[in-house]
Amino acid sequence: MQSSFRNYINGRWETGVTTAISENPSDLGSPVGEYARADAAQTDAAIRAASQASAAWAFTTPQRRADVLDQIGSEILARKDELGDLLAREEGKTLAESIGEAARAGNIFKFFAGEALRATGEKFASVRPGIEVDVTREPIGVIGIIAPWNFPLAIPAWKIAPALAYGNTVVFKPAELVPACGWALSEIISRAGLPAGAFNLVNGSGRQVGQAIVDSPLVDGISFTGSQATGAQLLKTAVERGAKVQLEMGGKNPLVVLADADLDQAVECAVQGAFFSTGQRCTASSRLIVESTAYDAFVAKLRERTRALKVGHALGRGIEIGPVASRAQLEQNLGYIEIGRHEGAELVVGGATVECATPGHYMAPALFLGEPQHRIAREEIFGPVAVVIRADDADHALALANDTPYGLCAGVCTRSLKQATHFKRHLQAGMVMVNLPTAGVDYHVPFGGRKASSHGPREQGRYAAEFYTTVKTAYTHA
Ligand code: NAD
Repeated sequence: MQSSFRNYINGRWETGVTTAISENPSDLGSPVGEYARADAAQTDAAIRAASQASAAWAFTTPQRRADVLDQIGSEILARKDELGDLLAREEGKTLAESIGEAARAGNIFKFFAGEALRATGEKFASVRPGIEVDVTREPIGVIGIIAPWNFPLAIPAWKIAPALAYGNTVVFKPAELVPACGWALSEIISRAGLPAGAFNLVNGSGRQVGQAIVDSPLVDGISFTGSQATGAQLLKTAVERGAKVQLEMGGKNPLVVLADADLDQAVECAVQGAFFSTGQRCTASSRLIVESTAYDAFVAKLRERTRALKVGHALGRGIEIGPVASRAQLEQNLGYIEIGRHEGAELVVGGATVECATPGHYMAPALFLGEPQHRIAREEIFGPVAVVIRADDADHALALANDTPYGLCAGVCTRSLKQATHFKRHLQAGMVMVNLPTAGVDYHVPFGGRKASSHGPREQGRYAAEFYTTVKTAYTHA
């Protein structure tokens, strides 16, 4: 077990105030490591360091910022197998999924290395004589990054990379379940040539470290991804003190299967969207809304495909579904299985714990046949649990898909161009998929949702500049 996962503050590796163990959900007998946990005072030290480094980093050349980000991206890509192995051990997604996530993190840094060089502005003619108007973007200052556990490399990457590319400094708080991934990413960043204080890592609890970031008047912007409850609470405090806030939160994403869909393709979309990464994706398709005439055939195929999924150790050969990330999450999933049964939904396959060679949080993906008003069809479970809902026709399916407080991603499977166009236009979500799983997005285009799923500007791609920069309008009298 590695025990050197320290915090990184003002260019130095610091021991924490306490330590904690990071578990391996595939093998509870082989923890990943012991890591340092900061308190509010140590977090304040990191914030002060970021604040002091702010002016210097904001005025570095785009070339320097591009070089730093490119170096980080190159190293992540070169070490994607090793980082993927760590991610699989700590979070529990399969090795293939984990290596894919590591590569994605590397590509994101490479993309924003390019963006650092592409900074542009606009020149306007003034309405007054002899005056020119320039509109440019500037960094906002210190960014507090509060991340969830389910994408422990990619989500921090898609926040840290644009923050640094546009000239901000960073205080990064990983989720408690994944300190080793946060540390591994930070260790690479620490050797990339940033000035001391421009990037800081503080592991620890949301209550202490997270709250200190939210409360600090020195933190100008907070980029948060996590649950709706935490996001809503954080927003109140941050807005009260005038900080800029970007929130990416939960989802209850629908996948609509119309009667004319290619059923094999639709089943594959459903299985991947609902159960891969153990269903622990904000974009997971947890509601499968199927037009009545295709319902029986779809359910029969999906039940067999779900039953055949191989659950096991995240590093195991041929494993399709790794363990649930934590005991608490497993208990929450099993709690929802009981809720579903109690409400009268029919559990057609899965839903129980699975014994494997090593002790871990294993669970067979669960498929319910349910009703739109069931709690399992309305509340985010964040596990491998999906519910199939019958729709009378395409209009009914669309209405059911939109009948949710969330609006992150929504999908439709159809062979009809007319229906695809109609659903793309009318699905109330930040992202829409046609004949694709709801989970699985590109890294160079905007990511985010509507309604209770998101708040503030989009993440990723060049749209990230909306959050990480502020606009300046300058008037010059020649
Ligand atoms: P969480 O809300 O429990 O924690 C997220 C982060 O917030 C953690 O780092 C946590 O320590 C921190 N935190 C907790 N309390 C805090 C406080 N009072 N002040 C400041 N920070 C605090 O969420 P989680 O369990 O880590 O992640 C799962 C959730 O994340 C799910 O709801 C999922 O849908 C959501 N998620 C959303 C997206 C998206 O982009 N929309 C992506 C991934 C995950």
